[in-house]
Amino acid sequence: DGGGVPGRVRVAVRLRPCNAEELAADADFADCVELQPELKRLKLRKNNWDTDTYAFDEIFTEFASQKRVYEVVAKPVVESVLEGYNGTVMAYGQTGTGKTYTLGKLGEEDTAARGIMVRAMEDILGDISLETDSVSVSYLQLYMETIQDLLDPSNDNISIVEDPKTGDVSLPGASLVEVRDQQSFLELLQLGEAHRFAANTKLNTESSRSHAILMVNVKRYVKEKDPVQSMENGSNSHLARTFKAPVVRKGKLVVVDLAGSERIDKSVLHVAGSEGHTLEEAKSINLSLSALGKCINALAENSAHIPVRDSKLTRLLRDSFGGTARTSLVITIGPSPRHRGETMSTIMFGQRAM
Ligand code: ADP
Ligand code: MG
Repeated sequence: DGGGVPGRVRVAVRLRPCNAEELAADADFADCVELQPELKRLKLRKNNWDTDTYAFDEIFTEFASQKRVYEVVAKPVVESVLEGYNGTVMAYGQTGTGKTYTLGKLGEEDTAARGIMVRAMEDILGDISLETDSVSVSYLQLYMETIQDLLDPSNDNISIVEDPKTGDVSLPGASLVEVRDQQSFLELLQLGEAHRFAANTKLNTESSRSHAILMVNVKRYVKEKDPVQSMENGSNSHLARTFKAPVVRKGKLVVVDLAGSERIDKSVLHVAGSEGHTLEEAKSINLSLSALGKCINALAENSAHIPVRDSKLTRLLRDSFGGTARTSLVITIGPSPRHRGETMSTIMFGQRAM
């Protein structure tokens, strides 16, 4: 079980339920995948006779609840963040397969539908002490190798600063907003979504062509076990008291709703006017997703060298890769046989991460 093991990437697959459109289009709709959740396996239909079988850490069928997905995928990462480590939860898949539903669903009316971001914050706020500890968030969009602040649209070109000694990543230009309750966090996410929509309208693009990145910094004051006390079995009460100074413990949770992994349809590229823009977008997405893939593969192989320098996405995640950090990846797929090719390439991305 890799849930709490640092270094290794935990990879889950989630199948989106069939939607009305798909049902209408294919009268006798046959899924192109068959899930075997109890065996943690997935079968992808190759043709009428053959299937290929792939193993993952977890398989979520279309009936899996948001709660269960959170508990399996994100909770171990959130717990390690509360202990002072860094952790990442990412969703990878074709547009329309449920990345945002899994990570960013607010569920204002239906709390059972809440996604990973909201549930993570709920657990964090429930665990810390608001008198001494703090939680602050940044919310960013990474589009065409440019980082935009979703909490302050005037910051539209944020630079990444890496501490050469520790490797810690910081974004000095990005808003860092303290969160004290769940309601204000929901409002921040909504504000971020509204800014994202406005920015993308201005750039004439879609949110599926950029990565959305939520960073949650948790800083807490913890009374560490007194070293003198533990050495002397707690007998020296005088020293024990003088040495009990609180220690600052910092953890960072990064939630990444990745750009759609689909290949840009060649026909789109030939629509007059859209060519340059769409092609550049596609190249940029391809660059960052393949850089991410290389880093995840390096993690999976326990390599000492994680090639983070190739894209802003991986530079941003540098202090969340390897070492003591935990990484969880959800790959999202749809049931339609029409997208078999995309589903296949999503599954291969997930396989390489393991
Ligand atoms: P993506 O972010 O990958 O483009 P979305 O999260 O926007 O995909 O999902 C596309 C649509 O499918 C949305 O209407 C979403 O509500 C719905 N959806 C996705 N996953 C599920 C699920 N597991 N259960 C119910 N509806 C889902
Ligand atoms: Mg989305």
